[in-house]
Amino acid sequence: MHTGVFGGSFDPVHVGHVGVAEAVLEKLSLDRLLVVPTAQHPFKSEGHSASAGDRLAMLKIAFADIDKIWIDGCEFERGGVSYTVDTLRDIRSRFQEDKLSLIVGADTVTSFNEWKDFKLLKEMAEVIVVTRPGEEVHGSERFRVVEVPAFDVSATEIRTRLEKGGSVEGLLAPEVQEFILGRRLYGTGV
Ligand code: ATP
Repeated sequence: MHTGVFGGSFDPVHVGHVGVAEAVLEKLSLDRLLVVPTAQHPFKSEGHSASAGDRLAMLKIAFADIDKIWIDGCEFERGGVSYTVDTLRDIRSRFQEDKLSLIVGADTVTSFNEWKDFKLLKEMAEVIVVTRPGEEVHGSERFRVVEVPAFDVSATEIRTRLEKGGSVEGLLAPEVQEFILGRRLYGTGV
């Protein structure tokens, strides 16, 4: 079995995340894709804007209709700072025979030197870097680049727009947008 691992803050999950997930499922012929929300991001010290429970709930809503996607709460269960190498170790122990591919966006490449045990991580999983608008990336011996359709969206932009009462039309699944408004997340309804 070929299992993909797609981690992130998902604060909130947006159409870019869903599009990347659909594209890698198809392009890499994955048997399943584990989507793993971060408990505590190693490089984002300001923390998350939505709670772990809300981020998890939004992921379940956003991916409800897509086969082969599993939302995996292992980083919440482990607690503390979420290092990808630890997550891969956890996933390896549960899927011992699988080929593992770690999916990340092109914006993360510049931080690879700071990742905990990147060399070991690379032995545990093939690193797949997906293209992202505004981020130039070339293949290297450290990772493989996979081209995906361009989704010009970021969670930061969505949080900023929501905070200012701007439109997020087309950037979020409508059900996720409803959830955000209903729970008054990201400064909405204040
Ligand atoms: P933020 O703006 O808060 O940094 P983000 O939009 O980058 O958030 P994350 O939750 O940090 O979202 O992303 C999870 C993973 O998805 C990361 O590997 C990121 O590079 C990738 N990703 C996010 N958005 C896109 C996109 N539009 N195209 C390609 N990859 C993306």
